[in-house]
Amino acid sequence: MEYQKIINAIYDEVKELKDEGSIADYIPELAKVNANKFGIALLDNEQNVYKIGDAQENFSIQSISKVISTAIIFSKIGNELWKRVGFEPSGNSFNSLVQLEYENGIPRNPFINAGALVIADLMLEHFENPKEYFLNFVRELSNNDSIQYNENVAQSEKENGYRNTALVNFIKSFDNIKNEPNDVLDFYFHQCSIEMNCIDLAKLFQVFANNGVISKEKTIFLTTSQCKRMNALMQMCGFYDQAGEFTFKVGLPGKSGVGGGVVAIFPNNYTVAVWSPKLNKKGNSYYGLETLERLTTITEASIF
Ligand code: GLU
Repeated sequence: MEYQKIINAIYDEVKELKDEGSIADYIPELAKVNANKFGIALLDNEQNVYKIGDAQENFSIQSISKVISTAIIFSKIGNELWKRVGFEPSGNSFNSLVQLEYENGIPRNPFINAGALVIADLMLEHFENPKEYFLNFVRELSNNDSIQYNENVAQSEKENGYRNTALVNFIKSFDNIKNEPNDVLDFYFHQCSIEMNCIDLAKLFQVFANNGVISKEKTIFLTTSQCKRMNALMQMCGFYDQAGEFTFKVGLPGKSGVGGGVVAIFPNNYTVAVWSPKLNKKGNSYYGLETLERLTTITEASIF
């Protein structure tokens, strides 16, 4: 497949689109980003990289990090995980508290904030230095030792994190958070603050396109069944309240974040990452979704 030609054509078309949405400004640090950035990187399973635009510029991956922390815990504790968090789409906003009350503090899935906070709690339970472990894991899979947490972004989240603070305390009242709420939040804000570029992100997620095997070392990180489940979660819950539309229009599992990043997986074929900070009303990158819809339409290939 001539991926370079295809992404070049998509890039030229998408960057001319109007009604581009608006940049995340819920914390001052994210509002500083240049809204006109736009990059695409596609990594096929033969390790060829195709890229265009700002594909080598770092951005805040935010919620995309939730997939990685979930996969680390799933790999570590297996199906025990599902006693602490569910695997159903939520149908509510990503930072909602409402369902927790009816479901005894068990979040609907690991990609809404409630679920990601329970995963953060599990990271604290299972790793002596979870921040260090998480960063090293990301560096290893992305093959880039310069990847860092952005302390300013983490700090900014902390200063404005009233809702996440409420969530973690509320879940703790049901005994589904075992550590100190501030420690859980500290890990969570750091994991969200991690910065990388589209190429790093495509490499980081390649394990999900490769049946759970880390290509570089040929080591099994997730079993085939666990990898299937991670991809199923991304398909059902990866795009906030637009997961249905993403499935309908793009037809690949993936995950977005408020930093404007989007990553999608075509199992056994490729991993693609797009970054454009302008978000649509559902909080997903406008150009990101337009790009991926065109990609699976032009290539006539999706998991469906
Ligand atoms: N750190 C953000 C929060 O917890 C993540 C937002 C996102 O990317 O969805 O609100």
